[in-house]
Amino acid sequence: MIKITILTLFPDFIDSIRSYGVLGKAIEKGVIELEILNIRDFSKDKHNKVDDEIYGGGAGMLMTVQPVFDAIKFSKKDNSKVVFLSPQGEVLTQNKCKELSKKEHLIFLCGHYEGIDSRIINNFVDEEISVGDYVVTGGEIPAMLLMDAVCRMVDGVLGNSESASTDSHYNNLLQYDVFTRPRDFNGIEVPEVLLSGNHKEIEKWREESSLENTKKKRPDLYEKYILKKK
Ligand code: SAM
Repeated sequence: MIKITILTLFPDFIDSIRSYGVLGKAIEKGVIELEILNIRDFSKDKHNKVDDEIYGGGAGMLMTVQPVFDAIKFSKKDNSKVVFLSPQGEVLTQNKCKELSKKEHLIFLCGHYEGIDSRIINNFVDEEISVGDYVVTGGEIPAMLLMDAVCRMVDGVLGNSESASTDSHYNNLLQYDVFTRPRDFNGIEVPEVLLSGNHKEIEKWREESSLENTKKKRPDLYEKYILKKK
């Protein structure tokens, strides 16, 4: 069981998570508790304003301190970790997802416009996480992505027929090649060993395929894996 609070200016966008697939089911079962708070609701400005011009000049607007501070104060408990989705954060990995999945309460803070006043980030955020070395327009898609990747690691979220442990990155390698019916598609056949029923041989083939895929598609990961094994 994990609680995720998302602080956002676009709650309806995030709310769609409840209606789909694995995460939707996990929320329905109560394995994940999802709380979505609209930062604008915390604004003390008479027009509910949440942004302002940047001191020192420059293009664009910045999210102001007060509504974000009050939203964090409202949602944060002793067992909470506040994560700001940011292109300046540590780039997300599977190991980070595993680590975060052990927490009781995660608060994901979504920026917008040119971002959030740095006093929030420097004083009230525990960790900054990036979804990659590029910039998107808001923190909502990164927060949904992070929520999905973290929640798959939470016990009871994936059904019995799904397994995270054979997926790419779980053990620092990419997954082996996978096939389904038909056995022969226009002369392109499924490797014979996978139809043999010999579990030991299948396991060996999968290990080799996993190493081959990693070496070919992600030589950086392959090198790291081989170095660690030495
Ligand atoms: N001016 C900011 C900077 O250069 O660091 C970027 C602001 S971006 C246009 C608006 C918001 O989108 C950010 O505050 C952040 O919440 C989110 N965002 C953008 N790129 C991201 C990334 N790679 N990972 C996570 N969040 C990101």
